[in-house]
Amino acid sequence: AKGGGKGRWCRYQSELHTAIVQRLELRTALAEAVERRSFMVEYQPIVDLYSGVAAGFEALVRWHHPGRGLVPPDQFIALAEETGLIEQIGDWVLREAVAAAGRWRQDRDPSATPYVSVNVSARQLRAGGFVDRVRAALGAADVPPTLLMLEITESLLLRDDDQVWAELTELRTLGVRVAIDDFGTGFSSLSYLQQMPADVLKIDRSFTATVASSRRQLLLLEGIIRLAGTLSLDIIAEGVETEVVRTLLMDMGCALGQGYLFSRPLAEEDANRWGPERRSP
Ligand code: C2E
Ligand code: CA
Ligand code: CA
Ligand code: CA
Repeated sequence: AKGGGKGRWCRYQSELHTAIVQRLELRTALAEAVERRSFMVEYQPIVDLYSGVAAGFEALVRWHHPGRGLVPPDQFIALAEETGLIEQIGDWVLREAVAAAGRWRQDRDPSATPYVSVNVSARQLRAGGFVDRVRAALGAADVPPTLLMLEITESLLLRDDDQVWAELTELRTLGVRVAIDDFGTGFSSLSYLQQMPADVLKIDRSFTATVASSRRQLLLLEGIIRLAGTLSLDIIAEGVETEVVRTLLMDMGCALGQGYLFSRPLAEEDANRWGPERRSP
């Protein structure tokens, strides 16, 4: 080997060692967090682009780490999936989010109650009994199934797992809606999309972000929106950060969006109070 040699190898070994130790520490801490329920849920408005009113809120989990503060899900969901802890975390998020929807329902005009949208991982759907858990959560909070949406990633649906499809179909029969999350990052064929047990397409933010600068992306998105219309699927565009993008989306007939232009994820009470900024005429 050229330059570096032994010194570099040792450094590599010690970095590897540190990484493994950190991972083990994180694993232990996550298991403890599940015991202590050191999580919280934030809610990001899903906004009617034309009126600015929140149609619903996406529930996004955060971990209150004793030393590190709030840990974003990107840093622990994968680990929770690997270890199976996602089953407990996910079930907790589901009950918490449905309970929040119940409180919004009490505080708001019943005809304008926003729905809550919950991310569901592969493992939760495969563990068995998921439909019963959803029913229990709705029953405990006295929330109608129509106020719940479940977000399932496109890649999970593409695996064409009979059990998963059957559960989602049953939930839709109850009135729960299903959204395909991160749409545009997988490779759904059009005929497949037509068969999927889903009501809503969520356009991934990597896709949304480029529509203002790339004509190709814009045309693609326009095609997807038209197709969704044909299949009676609603569309939610993620990652709407600018008025330019919002306007482009509205021009293409996309009615719903989510992103920092409107709001970051909020604590439950702030979500309940959240309303569109009043614009001067
Ligand atoms: P996701 O489902 O695609 O959620 C959207 C992510 O984009 C959220 O990050 C949100 O805060 C962020 N975001 C929203 N608007 C904007 C924007 O305008 N610009 C940018 N740059 N980002 C925006 P977050 O909260 O860190 O969540 C990351 C991922 O973690 C989620 O991606 C989801 O896949 C996963 N996740 C979150 N909560 C749960 C949960 O309860 N269960 C499971 N299984 N996964 C979860
Ligand atoms: Ca999501
Ligand atoms: Ca998403
Ligand atoms: Ca995404």
